[in-house]
Amino acid sequence: MSETRTGSGSMSLTTKVMIGMGAGLVLGVILNSLQIGWINTHIVGGLFRMIGQMFVNALSMLVVPLVFFSLICGVAGIGDVRILGRVGGKAFGLYILTTAVAIAVAICIALVVAPGQGFVMEGVDTAGVTGREAPSVWDTFAGIVPKNPVAAFAGGEMLQIIFYTIVLGVATLMMGAESAPFVRAAEFMNELMMKVVQIVMSFAPIGVFCLITRTFTEQGIGLFLPVISYVGVLVFALLLHLFVTLMIFLKVFSGLDPFTFIRKIRPAQAFAFSTASSNATIPVTLRCVTERMGADTGVASFSVPFGATINMDGTAIMQGVATVFLANVYGIDLGIAGYLTVIAMAVLASIGTAGVPGVGLVMLTMVLNQVGLPIEGIALILGVDRLMDMIRTAVNITGDAVVSVIVSKTEGKLDLSVWNDPDAGMAADPLDIDPAAEAQLAGLAHPHPHAQGQPRPAE
Ligand code: ASP
Repeated sequence: MSETRTGSGSMSLTTKVMIGMGAGLVLGVILNSLQIGWINTHIVGGLFRMIGQMFVNALSMLVVPLVFFSLICGVAGIGDVRILGRVGGKAFGLYILTTAVAIAVAICIALVVAPGQGFVMEGVDTAGVTGREAPSVWDTFAGIVPKNPVAAFAGGEMLQIIFYTIVLGVATLMMGAESAPFVRAAEFMNELMMKVVQIVMSFAPIGVFCLITRTFTEQGIGLFLPVISYVGVLVFALLLHLFVTLMIFLKVFSGLDPFTFIRKIRPAQAFAFSTASSNATIPVTLRCVTERMGADTGVASFSVPFGATINMDGTAIMQGVATVFLANVYGIDLGIAGYLTVIAMAVLASIGTAGVPGVGLVMLTMVLNQVGLPIEGIALILGVDRLMDMIRTAVNITGDAVVSVIVSKTEGKLDLSVWNDPDAGMAADPLDIDPAAEAQLAGLAHPHPHAQGQPRPAE
């Protein structure tokens, strides 16, 4: 892939992040095998942990304002309440469908392979693992409407924020020309947020390096051995969803070529893998689907942040495989009804949770509670979860991108000249956010540059 050199002529940010990942992996594995006490405690567990945490905090800091302003621009960009309803309905339906298929397939694979059978529960520290009660379906839906939008924003309640923002966007559309200054202000704020994203992203190589070094120093490779069957089945199910199921969805619903998609989505997947956060990856996913694939900016600015919150195919797959694994470990037969409950729970749980690191494991406690499996079992898979989180987040954002492209295409709003151009958007580094380009991305008044037949910037 010939992506990513920016004007400065130096190495692109994507390349630097890749190098950070690779170096972190190598260093982590070495440090784990050497086990030099003070380095592991003070450098990796101290300095690196601090830098990694600061980077993740900075990413989280971006999420709420980013989702708010990009959704306002998305709704205003769609421009018509009826089209918004149709786009929203399609995106929601496809998100639920892909998640349900993902977990159903994962459970079937896990039932056939039966990971965890004959596992001996020994020396597993189950202290401190506490479960979470599952809310009822009705409560989940009732909880979408915030009592107090300020509290929703302060608490980072993504579903409530999305609900409130869409209502605000619809009101904006209903007010027509009168709301133009507000829309312009939202566009400006979106642009400003992109500048902040650019600042945070410039620290990505070092942040990613610290995060990955710490994961591998603390966890090493040996940690995988006891749960190798779980990891093997999970990774297989995740890759199957990524490369087969989602690509079938893409082909069937849009007729587009899966290979083109896979090539163009890679930077977003790499970023999701490094940060383990779908939310933090929103700007990169957005750029990949609009600038590289030609999806409509109005549709994508709506469907990508929406998907980052409600669509978690990879997380659902983890929950399916983990449930079967733990049922086998404890010798409990859940039966068809039990597995159907798991599917329903995982889909519901994925709707109401923000795409941030580690949240999938918290959701798993709800699923286990619901089907009566011991929560302590989570201790078994805790150690490998960070790495699994990285892979499943890449799957999550791929699902968001597939649905965004399908919705754009079926709305007749996918620019095929961009989709078919192997170099479209490749000149710009998707991690290197250029606020001016973002303004255009969100810019309701300025359609996609390629759509206007303007020349692309030179490679
Ligand atoms: N980290 C995942 C995401 O952001 C959620 C999870 O499975 O923990 O999409």
